[in-house]
Amino acid sequence: MTIDVATALEWMSLYREGIDVRADELNHLDAALGDGDCGASMQRGTDAVIQALEPLEPETLGDLFVPVGTALVSSMGGSSGPLYGTLFLRIGTSLGTKTEATVEDLAAALRSGAEGVMMLGEAEVGDKTMIDCLVPTVEALEASTDKPMSVAVAEAVVVARDAAAATSALTARRGRASYLGDGGVGHVDPGAVAMSVLFEALDLAVNGDSSGG
Ligand code: ADP
Ligand code: MG
Repeated sequence: MTIDVATALEWMSLYREGIDVRADELNHLDAALGDGDCGASMQRGTDAVIQALEPLEPETLGDLFVPVGTALVSSMGGSSGPLYGTLFLRIGTSLGTKTEATVEDLAAALRSGAEGVMMLGEAEVGDKTMIDCLVPTVEALEASTDKPMSVAVAEAVVVARDAAAATSALTARRGRASYLGDGGVGHVDPGAVAMSVLFEALDLAVNGDSSGG
C-alpha cells in the first residue's frame, strides 16, 4: 500500500479533526510553558489548510502539500507558522510529481521537512520542541522501508506519542519555554504533542480505527 492523493487528503482532514479534539489540551500545555495559544494556532492553521484544499483537485502529492504549507505560513503566525510552513513546503517539494508515496518516499519527504524546520528554527534534537517528536518518528519510518505502509505507520505513531511524552524530562533551549528558569522540566512540550497528532491522523488515514489506539 502507498499514500495516494485521496489518502493524503484524508490525512489532512483527519489532522484538522485531531487538532480540534486536542486544542484545549494543547492550549493548556502551552499555558505551562509558553503563552497558551498552541491549540488555537494549530486550529487556525489546519482550518486554513482545509479551506485551501477544498477548491483544489490536486493530481500530484506536490500539488497537495505545497498549498498546505502556504496555508499554514499565512494563517498561523507566531513561531510555529513559518516552521510548519517549511515542513509542508519541503514535503510537497520532495514528493513533487509523485501521485503516490511509498514508505521510503514518505520518510524522505519528512526528513527533508525536518531538516528545513531545524535550519529555520535552529532547534536540535533534545531542545524540547516539535523536533523531539518529528525526528524520532522520521527515523522510525526510515527504518521501516521494508515493511508494508500500514505496519510502518502504525509503529511510527507509537514512536511519535512516546517521543512527545518524553519531552517532559527535557530542558527547553528554543522557543518561549527556554525563558523559564527551570526550562520547563516536568511539562510536556505542546509543539511535540501537536506534532504527534499529525502522525495519529496519518495512522487513522492509513489504518482506520483498528490500529494505534
Ligand atoms: P508560539 O511560541 O509562537 O506561541 P506555538 O504556541 O504555536 O508558538 O508553538 C509552540 C511550540 O513551537 C513549542 O512547544 C515548540 O514545540 C515549538 N517551537 C518553538 N520554537 C521552536 C524552534 N525554534 N524550533 C522548533 N520548534 C519550535
Ligand atoms: Mg504559544
